[in-house]
Amino acid sequence: MLSLSTVRFASRLRASRAFSTIPVVPNFISGKFTPSAATEFIDVTNPATNEVVTRVPKSTQSELEAAVASAAEAFETWSETPVQMRQRIMLDYVQLIKRDQMKIAESITLEQGKTIPDAMGDVFRGLEIVEMSSAIGHLMMGETQGNISKGIDAYSYREPLGVTAGICPFNFPAMIPLWMFPVAVAAGNTSVIKPSEKDPSAMIMLAELAQEAGLPDGVLNIVHGAHETVDFICDAPDIKAISFVGGNAAGEYIHARGTGNGKRVQANLGAKNHATIMPDADRSSVVKALAGAAFGAAGQRCMALSVVVFVGESKEWIEDVVEEAKKYKVGSGFDEDVQVGPLITPEAKKRCEDIIQQSIDEGAECLIDGRGVKVEGFENGNFVGPTVLNVPNTTNVAYTEEIFGPVLTCLSVDTLEEAIAITNSNPYGNGCSIFTTSGPAARMYQHKIDCGQVGINVPIPVPLPFFSFTGSRASIRGDLHFYGKEGVKFVTKAKTVTSNWTYKGNLGGAVMPTMGK
Ligand code: NAD
Repeated sequence: MLSLSTVRFASRLRASRAFSTIPVVPNFISGKFTPSAATEFIDVTNPATNEVVTRVPKSTQSELEAAVASAAEAFETWSETPVQMRQRIMLDYVQLIKRDQMKIAESITLEQGKTIPDAMGDVFRGLEIVEMSSAIGHLMMGETQGNISKGIDAYSYREPLGVTAGICPFNFPAMIPLWMFPVAVAAGNTSVIKPSEKDPSAMIMLAELAQEAGLPDGVLNIVHGAHETVDFICDAPDIKAISFVGGNAAGEYIHARGTGNGKRVQANLGAKNHATIMPDADRSSVVKALAGAAFGAAGQRCMALSVVVFVGESKEWIEDVVEEAKKYKVGSGFDEDVQVGPLITPEAKKRCEDIIQQSIDEGAECLIDGRGVKVEGFENGNFVGPTVLNVPNTTNVAYTEEIFGPVLTCLSVDTLEEAIAITNSNPYGNGCSIFTTSGPAARMYQHKIDCGQVGINVPIPVPLPFFSFTGSRASIRGDLHFYGKEGVKFVTKAKTVTSNWTYKGNLGGAVMPTMGK
């Protein structure tokens, strides 16, 4: 149950801001939250009203340089700080994020639009990565082999890289930055984060809490902006690794530019997640799961189920999905009865509506149309209601585009093999799910499907932090995934030591060993 204060938060904030100047988010450099000297700003709007609530500076060149210099300087001492001390800061950080979870969630709902429960989940899923980071020592341990030659031992371990950077998308303004900097700094790196210019305030709150937890000045820094800031991050020689999450256009560009400059880049990109429904599945649970995964968070999740492939007779269930969609209330994320908040911008809303129209023009049957939905008191919001499109083929625009809205695109096939072939032919390989009561069908699907994250009777199979977030194909650039063991590998480099501590041994001559006997 939401507190009344939560529900009143938006109107209070709106009222107070009506009489004051719009706040500008600060940079965070060398442990100080300082206003930018920028001359250009980007408006951050409440997607439910399109009122400007915050402004983001385009951080200046000297501010960007100062952030990286601060991170490089802090690395000298932070990387020498024992891992247990870094972990203890993360443990305290966990408690502080829990304490302020609701405050952060309110800020997310204001700037991003998602409902308060979704925003609480946004913070919680990130918090779990901080929990993982508070035991990072285990994941940094290397290997040892004693006596590889007479009196000689070899061992390997992992060291931090230096300054790392994170470039974030709008859809999870707490979770995604928390995928990035806690792992990096717990491993002994320092970090420069660029939040999304659409919803930067959650990251500012997270930095305040990191400072309160005891993270030393310069270990975490925040800069703002759009493409120029991204270009700076890709080019700055002191930045050794970039974590990016966002769309394919930006991600492929950042991956190419960053790796071209010799940096490590891990980039999680777009998605078009397919569900396969077998006729032996439980009809009512499937319908509920599909609707939640397609329309929840207004479809603005990279793991949203946006395509459903009905196998055989399960195609009849489409009418139940439409009935379920009608139950979803569209409105402000602060309204506790609402399940579908607004899209992030008027442009995102228009694009979504245009794709729906084009899809219909290309032959789709629109079974429920979320265009033109009116929300009383929020007439200027970017709302699109749940929409279900039954498309005739995979060339229909609703199938080919990542819509990132509350639109479920439906296809029907006769066999599981066809459903798998369709899923595997789509360029994206982020997530997918099968719903069935057949073990053999589930096993075949799991084995043959070419997606990074597979759900079996689980609509949104996001891996918990002891695994990694394993997107594949066009949903990813780079080799090492976010968080878990792979995330730690991404922000560390291996060092292998061969040591000879024979007290008075042969320290070797000019001749290489030729045979180990
Ligand atoms: P986006 O690509 O528009 O923006 C992401 C970041 O890149 C922002 O910080 C932005 O300032 C920057 N950016 C945008 N365009 C740029 C360009 N041309 N050059 C340089 N920098 C640029 O993404 P978004 O709209 O904020 O987020 C939605 C996208 O993120 C969707 O495609 C979604 O699937 C994807 N996403 C993927 C995952 C995943 O784990 N695979 C998770 C969340 C979101």
